[in-house]
Amino acid sequence: MLIGSKVISSYNRRLLAFLLIGTLLCNSSLVLASDNDQQITYHDTAPCDFYGNFTFNSTAANQSVHWQVELGPRLPGSNASFLLRESIKENLTEWTFEEESHHREDFNLTNLIATYKPDNSSSQEIYLVAHYDSRDRAERDENESLRNTPIDGANDGASGTAVLIEMGKIIPKMNLSHSVKLFFTDAEDQGVRPGIYGSKAWAENRTDDELSNISAFIVIDMIGDSDLHFTHVWPGTSELWLTIQSLAEALGLVEGEDDCLGNPGADVFDIETSYGVIDDHVAAFERGVPAIDIIDIHSGEGADKWGGYWHTHNDTIDKVSAESLGRIGQLLELGLLSESWVLDSNFSDYNHSNEPKQNPESNKKNTIENSFTIGILSITFTLFLVIFILYYRIKNK
Ligand SMILES: [Zn+2]
Repeated sequence: MLIGSKVISSYNRRLLAFLLIGTLLCNSSLVLASDNDQQITYHDTAPCDFYGNFTFNSTAANQSVHWQVELGPRLPGSNASFLLRESIKENLTEWTFEEESHHREDFNLTNLIATYKPDNSSSQEIYLVAHYDSRDRAERDENESLRNTPIDGANDGASGTAVLIEMGKIIPKMNLSHSVKLFFTDAEDQGVRPGIYGSKAWAENRTDDELSNISAFIVIDMIGDSDLHFTHVWPGTSELWLTIQSLAEALGLVEGEDDCLGNPGADVFDIETSYGVIDDHVAAFERGVPAIDIIDIHSGEGADKWGGYWHTHNDTIDKVSAESLGRIGQLLELGLLSESWVLDSNFSDYNHSNEPKQNPESNKKNTIENSFTIGILSITFTLFLVIFILYYRIKNK
């Protein structure tokens, strides 16, 4: 087939325009992608400046664990589950509540979300999360005939719920500059494998806009064991784990680190060790929310991971200690008081202009790296374009 040189040159011009537009579009989407990849930066705080005068009531938290267990199994849709929600609402009079119900499997679950929004608060929201249901079975129990019956869930369920309730009593007095949500998830522990149904349903029903206000989503689960051993858990947001490390050190919960008073730390938090855990943090994390799970998967003294009394009929009140509940309560209290979970970046309406930004060097490095990548890609694409045009010119001569 014969193609005249004029036809080819007009074809070339169109091709050139197409490639140029392609290059521009490609570069602009790279710029957008690098903007979205911006690292989150938490407020630069010194927890020891806020140490002391803790008001978290560990005795009351322990009493709550007793009360919850006495209600009987808190299965989704049960009367015990209803009574627990009612009690939470009656106890936290300064909070507003929303209940969200969803049908899953053969039950209706109800998530309970409490909001405390101080006057003149920023748009940032910190979520403290615990499941309030107890497991419908005891698949790890030694006694086979009891494996299909619901457990007490004193540690697995009631402990996290109790700490959240007690946090709800002290948060309104903290003079915070942002909202706090206490999210009591339902149906975390139902099904052959714990289904995390409530937190999944919550994440499925949130818009990107709603989620973009959440600066931290902190799940506490199985935090009442009298012999506490926490590790890092993945998936989870690294920046958020770093804040937990600082707080745990300040409170004397990291071996080899002195606490704020100069006393040696105990072996409670070891975030050098990491385990994979599927829990209520996962659905939020997968939607891009900064999320972690504080969970002790060693149930009982010297227990292996996922061992001990976990998911057995031995998950009873005698395994839970007020001291352990108090340790997590104080960690959350210190985290809020020190603004450890307040974001400096990504929130243009958040006014902290009098405070220095954390890690400006790492942000700068990130921007430089992104610009460098874009530059290299642009040069490669332009070179390809020039070679392509030259090739056509030579061929058409
Ligand atoms: Zn469980």
